[in-house]
Amino acid sequence: MIVDVAVSVPLPQTFHYRIPEELQNDMKVGCVVEVPFRRAKAIGVVLSIPETSDYPLEKLKHISSILSAPLFDGELLPFFKWLSDYYCHPLGEVLSAALPKQVLLSSTVSRPVKEVVQPPPQAPLVLTSAQQEALTAILNAEDKRPQLLHGVTGSGKTEIYLQALAEYRKQGLGAIVLVPEISLTPQLMNRFSQRFPGEVAVWHSDLTPKERRTEWLRICSGEAKVVVGARSAIFAPLKNLGLIIVDEEHEGSYKQEDSFRYHARDVAILRGHFFKTRVILGSATPSVESYLQATKKKYGYLRLKDRANDAKMPNIHIVDLKDAREKWDTDTAKKYSWLSRTLANELRRNLEKKEQSLLFLNRLGFSQFLLCNDCGHTWRCKQCEVSLTYYKSTLTLKCHYCTSEFKSPNLCENCNGSNLQGMGLGTEQVESSIKEMFPEARLIRLDRSVVKTRKQLVATLEAIEQKQVDIVIGTQMLAKGHDYPHITLVGVLLADSTLNFPDFRAEERTYQLLTQVAGRSGRGEKAGRVYLQTYNPAHRIFDILKGEDFGSFMTHEIQLRETYGFPPFTRLGLIRLSDVNPARVEAGAHEIFRWAERINLEHSLGCTLMGPSESPLLKLNGKFRWQILIKSNSSSQLQTLIKTLQNKSIEAKTRVAISWDVDPQQVM
Ligand code: ADP
Ligand code: ZN
Repeated sequence: MIVDVAVSVPLPQTFHYRIPEELQNDMKVGCVVEVPFRRAKAIGVVLSIPETSDYPLEKLKHISSILSAPLFDGELLPFFKWLSDYYCHPLGEVLSAALPKQVLLSSTVSRPVKEVVQPPPQAPLVLTSAQQEALTAILNAEDKRPQLLHGVTGSGKTEIYLQALAEYRKQGLGAIVLVPEISLTPQLMNRFSQRFPGEVAVWHSDLTPKERRTEWLRICSGEAKVVVGARSAIFAPLKNLGLIIVDEEHEGSYKQEDSFRYHARDVAILRGHFFKTRVILGSATPSVESYLQATKKKYGYLRLKDRANDAKMPNIHIVDLKDAREKWDTDTAKKYSWLSRTLANELRRNLEKKEQSLLFLNRLGFSQFLLCNDCGHTWRCKQCEVSLTYYKSTLTLKCHYCTSEFKSPNLCENCNGSNLQGMGLGTEQVESSIKEMFPEARLIRLDRSVVKTRKQLVATLEAIEQKQVDIVIGTQMLAKGHDYPHITLVGVLLADSTLNFPDFRAEERTYQLLTQVAGRSGRGEKAGRVYLQTYNPAHRIFDILKGEDFGSFMTHEIQLRETYGFPPFTRLGLIRLSDVNPARVEAGAHEIFRWAERINLEHSLGCTLMGPSESPLLKLNGKFRWQILIKSNSSSQLQTLIKTLQNKSIEAKTRVAISWDVDPQQVM
């Protein structure tokens, strides 16, 4: 007996193995097996049990062991095969991205007994008429088009998900609910488990191995009917799947950025398409991609313009940081150049009224970099060639890419001067300066450098909710999906900081981020106000934010993408090459590029090739990086080019590391 196995190795083909006598009875399609590969062991999934093999039987190796009975039912395998083609990624690695390692590593899984504390059940809310309309449209739509639910922050999208889900549950169908990792807080989990007691499985990166196994078994056994989770939950082998919900569909964190580089929202659309399952994409700020599909009627489009619980949308004010009236005149106050007088007054007013405020800045640390005032030297990571961020609290310099950390110097390593100065504002500095300005205020910081675990996040969110703090200072970590009922003032310290990124999605991302941040205010009874500080108040993005004119923002954005041939008008593939040796990676990039040109011509693929060029971040983790960007008008031509190139580079034994990114989200 032979089996065809998708082995979890970075090679495109599958492999034949023989089955030892004693394993033959247990062997089934879908079994997870351990196999000898080169000189090591690897994990694989049995794809088929073919009658014959082209290889001489005696040359085939034997399967080492069966790790698990089939984990996916037969239907899912063709879907994974399809994903492997679409993303030009080896099937074995696609499958192993979908399988939790904890399940594989213990084949005889015994059911751990765990007392689950169930929150008391909760009745559905009475829907507003806008919510009811959207729900009816979702449930009554006869075609299986995905539905884009575009509702302002606080418009009650979650309540619509819950009630749609309830309808599917009545029909005995289950659902996958995707949310960005960071919003998987007890707040949200409780809303689902209170509505569907005992039926919800959760899936995120903070689960212990034991929890992961329990949840996986609940999913496989059919006990769990609803999976709420981050990115990889989209692969859950849930039985009778009827509905897939992707909340905050525009979120960049749905993109997996290493090994199997998939976009969970796109995989959701593909899974929905493959199995004729309803998909709902929800967002206050839909992505250009999804919005365009809606305008083309490929997706249904549902709009919620108002908040559900009568809360008003916040008032948005733009503050010009160049304006002389916003500046401080005394010398001691000059260090507040990043804080306008207007925003400072609003903060004071809020403190007097005992209301909560939130300050947003998308930069960590005390200073962005350390500068020697005598010779101009700046400190950079030797592994990554990016500036090191200065942290005053720990007196360290940190690299945000490779996470290396150094003691902050007293003297310049270049000229021995002692005139060192931190440049560029970070959240740590905001906290200490605000503390000086308002000594009586209770502050809390919410960013990656102070809130490192889910537990800390939960504690911080609770402290805010219980009004134990007056001013919250944080990065985009605070913008995502959390409900802060008492915040009435939001200040964005530097609204332009993400606007000038060298990426065609920079404006879209800024728009989304600022809308999400602004949406944190006034979610309770009191109206909220938002102050956006900027050096560039004339930028069109601010008019749009003020007027909430989403349509005209999108029209402009769509036009630009069309003119310059960016997605979704074209498909992109990004080839990244890296090596410790700069000359070798450069030569490798040129070689791959020449092959790509030849393949493009020979197969008349009509792709546009850009590069080869140094990546904007040339050196990361000690490796030099080059890249080649491919633009194509068709998925299949892009796939042909990439696959032919992959085979060619395997054949030629290319020495530099290559990664292939279909539909890249970052071109850095
Ligand atoms: P979104 O997901 O669109 O940001 P949520 O579903 O979190 O919005 O709802 C925002 C707030 O409005 C929540 O506190 C929620 O309980 C409340 N809410 C939602 N729908 C209703 C409703 N029909 N009646 C009253 N309150 C509602
Ligand atoms: Zn580094």
